[in-house]
Amino acid sequence: MKKTYLLTPGPTPLPPEICEALSRPIIHHRTPQFQAVLKEVAENLKGAFQTKNDVFVLTSSGTGAMEASVVNLLSWGDKALVIQAGKFGERWTELCQAYGIKPIVIDVEWGKSLDPQVLKETLSKEPAVKAVFTTLCETSTGVTSDIKAFGQVVRETEAVLVVDAISGLGAIDLQMDAWGVDVVVSGSQKGFMLPPGLAFLAVSKKAWKLVEESKCPKYYFDLKKAKKAYDKTDTPFTPAIGIVIALNEALRIMKAEGFENIFARHKKLADATRAAMVAMGLELFSSDAASDAVTAVRVPAGIDGEKLVKTMRDEYGVTIAGGQGEMKGKLLRIAHMGYISEFDIILGIACLEKVLKKMGYAFELGAGVKAAQEVLIK
Ligand SMILES: *Cc1c(COP(=O)(O)O)cnc(C)c1O
Repeated sequence: MKKTYLLTPGPTPLPPEICEALSRPIIHHRTPQFQAVLKEVAENLKGAFQTKNDVFVLTSSGTGAMEASVVNLLSWGDKALVIQAGKFGERWTELCQAYGIKPIVIDVEWGKSLDPQVLKETLSKEPAVKAVFTTLCETSTGVTSDIKAFGQVVRETEAVLVVDAISGLGAIDLQMDAWGVDVVVSGSQKGFMLPPGLAFLAVSKKAWKLVEESKCPKYYFDLKKAKKAYDKTDTPFTPAIGIVIALNEALRIMKAEGFENIFARHKKLADATRAAMVAMGLELFSSDAASDAVTAVRVPAGIDGEKLVKTMRDEYGVTIAGGQGEMKGKLLRIAHMGYISEFDIILGIACLEKVLKKMGYAFELGAGVKAAQEVLIK
């Protein structure tokens, strides 16, 4: 017998209510029944994004909404600024390059977050920048950016602030309107407790002016088409009907818990996970801006990180993530976002302890579980 557990930063586990919603017979999307779902989803997404702006639902993985931001805000030859602090920051750079937009890259050392002062200085030297692209939770490094501070800097300029909140939204606080964020992008398979397949994108008035001027080629991700349909509680193409219906359930669940409570719950799980790692003698990858959605730690010296992740998954059914890009084999990433409870975390830590011990890493068995329990019992 093998029971499996998913503790990765996307996809994340699905609650039974979501599985049930996904198993319902399909309905047609141009019907009053589906329109009622779209209407409720539109309203509740605004709550999740902490905005009064429209939030569009796109049928794609999260990257589709990142691409939609680039092609709808900018034109060939425009300048954009990219805060690149990991694998997902690099994606913004690659997207800009794919469409002939000139990215000015602020390269941040992996595991660190950008000092807002550096953003301010760079922007003052580059007045032609039309958009600043950044990441709420850099999933590859387990670091959260200071979006509030970035918002204060960017709102004083002509540029718009675009945040990839794919792995952070619904897990950590991002106040789109209050913090002056112009575009927020997210996806279904992380904090929203859904399967992959939907992307979300909210656009401010300031950003919409750029949408009207943009000359980048686009068709499927044309936001003007999306807006025209949205205003009639419709979608331009066939949406992923089943996942939208499940999204409605997920948003109901989240609203019932309350976003403040959700953020507090994620923080507690993150605190417990970090305490466990430290108690086991592992080094947190981020010392000062560790994310409450995913914890990244360095693989200890002498241990094969890839083998560790593989053993946990293939022998014990517990899937965590390894490192990406330049940190391949050097990091372990344990997600605590979405439908992951305190005992899932305890289980993940227990499995990590077992495999580390078997691989010859010296520490006191049970130290991680104990430290996590001590945080969680408070
Ligand atoms: C998962 C993730 C993405 C990629 O989203 P896809 O759904 O795989 O396209 C982008 N950015 C961040 C920060 C992520 O965590």
